[in-house]
Amino acid sequence: MERLVVFLGAGASKSDGAPLQKELFRAYMESMDESREIQTRYDEKNPFYKNVKMDLFTFFDGYFGIDLGCSKPMLFPSFEEALGILEVEGSYAGSGKVRKYKDAIVASMALAIESQLEHKRNEDNYQIIDSYHKQLVENLCDRSGRQVDFLSTNYDLLADNALFSQRRIINYGFSRQGHGIRLLKLHGSMNWLYCTQCGCIQVKEAADISANNLLDFNAHKCEKCGSQQTSVIIPPTYFKNFVQYGDNIRRVWENAYEALVNADHIVICGYSFPHADIHIKTLLKKSEQGRMRPEPLKVSVFNGYEGKSIEEMEKEESRYLRFLRKDTILNYRGDVPFEAFARAPRQYMD
Ligand SMILES: [Zn+2]
Repeated sequence: MERLVVFLGAGASKSDGAPLQKELFRAYMESMDESREIQTRYDEKNPFYKNVKMDLFTFFDGYFGIDLGCSKPMLFPSFEEALGILEVEGSYAGSGKVRKYKDAIVASMALAIESQLEHKRNEDNYQIIDSYHKQLVENLCDRSGRQVDFLSTNYDLLADNALFSQRRIINYGFSRQGHGIRLLKLHGSMNWLYCTQCGCIQVKEAADISANNLLDFNAHKCEKCGSQQTSVIIPPTYFKNFVQYGDNIRRVWENAYEALVNADHIVICGYSFPHADIHIKTLLKKSEQGRMRPEPLKVSVFNGYEGKSIEEMEKEESRYLRFLRKDTILNYRGDVPFEAFARAPRQYMD
């Protein structure tokens, strides 16, 4: 059976309406002035939301001189920049304040993603009703006769929800064995909680996921030892800090390597192969080198989006071409958006 690895980058989530990293803080601020309906869900009186908002206000004022209360349009730092500064500061200063800000930033990210995906949710059970991710899972896992593993750099739960909604068991790759479809989230996930005391990761089911019940860290205690848990969100540039999550993230990456080494075809969706992602590049390079299959590797890239210029596509294609081994077969479709691929994957792969 042909083995397929589908790599989901930020562009795939963007197709389903999730904000990009650089848009997250703006999206959070917008979600705060949205309709009453959303306001009720993120109740202003709820101490969790109030604290997130207060901590974020203090952080932006203190670090960037941004007054979030002012309606003037602001140039925000990216999510990764903000979190990155705190990661590094926390590693040498280690203050409680830094952790508070980090929690607030992660929570605001979750709130921003949530509010932008609001229209895709079911009122009653809070599940995502429809998404391109769902179409992809349906079209690929059931109908293509291939074995599929998913790799993702996204923290959101679009792929998780797509698999859950079809009653599939997700294997996040925290151990060497494991059953179900592998969904290897290389930079962490909004529904993972890590206990620093006993080193275990707990996974919250996607149906329960909302910032409301997930990111109120004070409300979450480890099921094994009762200690407080933290989020597992690892921005790419600060990846060396993955050791703080015990062996869990290392195993996720080992599983990713194993999937890639055995793949006949790697399909890369919504990912522009940025310079900064040296860890992803190394993973891809090592798996080209360690290849276990007799046939040459096929790599397909689908990364179309509105307003993308020919020049951008040429640059992107050359980034892939110069990096990949010369016996790897590249099928570059920088003009095909994730949604088109999700609707008819076989049309673009065979
Ligand atoms: Zn514990």
